[in-house]
Amino acid sequence: MTELLSDFHEDVDHMTDEEFDAAFEKAQELSAYFREIGPKYDIENTFAYPTIAKFKESGLGAFSVPKRYGGMGGNILQTSKIISELSRGDSAITLAYNMHFIMVGMCMGLFSEEQNKLWLGRVVEGDIVFGPFSEQRAGFSGLADMKAVPQPEGGWRIYGKKVWGTLGEASDIVTTNATITDAEGNLPESFEERVEAESFFVAEFDVDENGQGDGIRIEKTWDALGMHATGTHTIHFEGFYIPEDGFVCEWRAGAFGVLEWASLMFASIYLGMQYRVLEEAREVLSKKTLGATFGAIAAAETKVSNVGHIIDGIGDMASRVELSRRVVYRTCQELVDGDDDNWPVELRFPYIGLAKTFCSENVMHMTKRAMSLVGGSSFKKGAIFERLYRDSAASMFQPLNSDQSCTYIGEQLLAPDELND
Ligand SMILES: Cc1cc2nc3c(=O)[nH]c(=O)nc-3n(C[C@H](O)[C@H](O)[C@H](O)COP(=O)(O)OP(=O)(O)OC[C@H]3O[C@@H](n4cnc5c(N)ncnc54)[C@H](O)[C@@H]3O)c2cc1C
Repeated sequence: MTELLSDFHEDVDHMTDEEFDAAFEKAQELSAYFREIGPKYDIENTFAYPTIAKFKESGLGAFSVPKRYGGMGGNILQTSKIISELSRGDSAITLAYNMHFIMVGMCMGLFSEEQNKLWLGRVVEGDIVFGPFSEQRAGFSGLADMKAVPQPEGGWRIYGKKVWGTLGEASDIVTTNATITDAEGNLPESFEERVEAESFFVAEFDVDENGQGDGIRIEKTWDALGMHATGTHTIHFEGFYIPEDGFVCEWRAGAFGVLEWASLMFASIYLGMQYRVLEEAREVLSKKTLGATFGAIAAAETKVSNVGHIIDGIGDMASRVELSRRVVYRTCQELVDGDDDNWPVELRFPYIGLAKTFCSENVMHMTKRAMSLVGGSSFKKGAIFERLYRDSAASMFQPLNSDQSCTYIGEQLLAPDELND
């Protein structure tokens, strides 16, 4: 795996500064568009459909595809910067497209050469990928109950459902995990056999305008506190056929080597959201005047930018943004440089995940603090702050969450073998 990853570092680390600047400009334009239309789709509680054409036009979908497959060759740090910039415009819309960046990043480390040529080639042509993995019983960490039943003619038919299918409405390619059964559709009995049989697949995702396809369909179930424009619906697999060349690898063993593309891209979303919270809070608080006040400050004229806790509050937010930026960028850079080879292998994933949990805790703190500093107007519908507050709560759930990271790290460090070391 180490070898595979270092090859991978070399493969993608080829974008020049000029190429990056040009792509970043495109990201700024797209971000401005997301910012403009984001509120409408938050209110309407639907996926932001007009973004599909704009995203494809931008060419950014191929940003992290290695140059040898026709992509731009952006590495994980450069991709993180693009995601944060898009998220600064609108985090919900960007979280949807983030699934594409996550799956492209993970897949290019797991696909065979033929699969890379085929599927990454399609991404370069403008196709969009999504990755519904989480199920009802247990989210991302639950072993798939979804079944892949082997077919006499080869390949598998997939039965089950995924309840967190972000970006399905815009996607052309589906990647997912399912557990290979016997010919009668029985799941393996022992835990170890289940882990081994759980597999990662890629396939064409061809549904009509109502989300109906051959053996696969989207059920529009998304209705949540925030992140409305992600369109995170339920995806039903009802005998969906995957040919033999759609098998990628054993899921858990494969995923753990490339999950940085999930956790660091989520970190980038919440870093971009932090940029926005600080920007909006400064905008309001640098101008707001309370007039004559009676209370903590009794004065004929109170300008909020002169109030101690507001000055401190903005300073605190800016410090958190700067620290989060350094943690995300530094973690990405360490991966680009291959420094992760020096970390204990069991701790690699949760240590990388710390950037996400750090950004998540900071953004939730900041959205709450911004509302308290701005005052009651921030609580009303249509105010950007109530929206950021709702959207930031989604950061608690994407893997690994803070609780699971700490359990994971603590468990490893308390294991007798570690203690002997
Ligand atoms: C806006 C949004 C979009 C999303 N989009 C997608 C998507 O496109 N694809 C996708 O696959 N998923 C997606 N998800 C799902 C998400 O990543 C999680 O998998 C999902 O929230 C359920 O997992 P969970 O751990 O939160 O909950 P559960 O798995 O139900 O966990 C319940 C509790 O058990 C704990 N727990 C869970 N597993 C373990 C474990 N192994 N060890 C110890 N404790 C554990 C959790 O910390 C939690 O306290 C999305 C989530 C959000 C909020």
